[in-house]
Amino acid sequence: MIPPGETIGILGGGQLGRMMALAAATLGYRCHVFAPEADPIAADVCAAFTQGDFADEAALSAFAAHCAVVTYEFENVAAAPLAAILPHAPLYPPAHALEVAQDRASEKAFVEQLGGRPAPWATVDSPDDLAAAIARIGTPGILKTRRDGYDGKGQWRIMTPADAEALDWPTATPLVYEGFVTFDAEFSVILVRTASGEVRFWDSAENVHKNGILDRSTIPASPAIAAHIPAARALAAKLAEALDYVGVLTCEFFATAQGPVFNEMAPRVHNSGHWTIEGALTSQFENHIRAICGLPLGATALACKGAVMDNLIGDDAHDWPAILSDPANHLHLYGKAAVRPGRKMGHVTRLVL
Ligand code: AMP
Repeated sequence: MIPPGETIGILGGGQLGRMMALAAATLGYRCHVFAPEADPIAADVCAAFTQGDFADEAALSAFAAHCAVVTYEFENVAAAPLAAILPHAPLYPPAHALEVAQDRASEKAFVEQLGGRPAPWATVDSPDDLAAAIARIGTPGILKTRRDGYDGKGQWRIMTPADAEALDWPTATPLVYEGFVTFDAEFSVILVRTASGEVRFWDSAENVHKNGILDRSTIPASPAIAAHIPAARALAAKLAEALDYVGVLTCEFFATAQGPVFNEMAPRVHNSGHWTIEGALTSQFENHIRAICGLPLGATALACKGAVMDNLIGDDAHDWPAILSDPANHLHLYGKAAVRPGRKMGHVTRLVL
């Protein structure tokens, strides 16, 4: 058990790290952020910050020497150099979870092995591979980079075989082609798991994306989703167990007429769980900290009848005066200096009481 007062290391300096650090501070921990950028928004609310490259083993080792435990807030970090952390501090979730989740092909193969069902897919390394994948899976579909894609980046919609031929080929990038899933709705399962194997779930939000970016999460999800939750939770718990997982794990699903179709997982706290800050008895951020520190988990039950979380993307952030004019709104701004189209600047949550 890592008692309050100790230092938690966080790899990555974005909003997820920032909200994790705020939850850790509530429990009396100090946080130390390690990130490549000069002025990360998570460091604004942390006790210490090291600027460093995620591949720099010496820097990671020196950072970990100051930490009682290390976690991460985003998964696009090479797993091998993280071994430099382990002589100093445990890394949770384990590096293997990161390896599986950061490659769309290994993630889908892993899920299939455990009985889950992703969209039909194929690995693609060349235009010929893509033609073969389309011949087998059909169109429409989506070509995605295997690694480093997020918020709809690194994705190309292929509506017809002609689209594939006209594609400006992303050279030497390993890709996957996925059949387009006709879904009734999208939802996520967020769980927290302790080192001793205790698992708790939050209620599943119904998620609506715009341009590949999460736009709104709603609790409770529509009745169309409720029927899918038990199977989706069972799969998520199986994935967590197989990974010896410690911390918060998110799995995203499509609700289809044939049952839940696995989309992707994130080995971390997730945007579709931001509503838990006000809407659940214990937030995803606090329970993540509790799990990685070996503290008892807090209750994940709803603290309200429902919640709606809207992301503030790009210029939406300028609406903060109007948002604050409704006293029921919970406004979260991430402190990002530059507003850019498609950039997550903050979110706002409204509870149904
Ligand atoms: P991803 O980054 O892979 O989660 O994709 C972002 C969003 O694009 C998803 O949440 C869906 O709304 C949409 N999307 C991605 N893959 C598919 C698919 N195979 N079929 C239908 N919609 C998809």
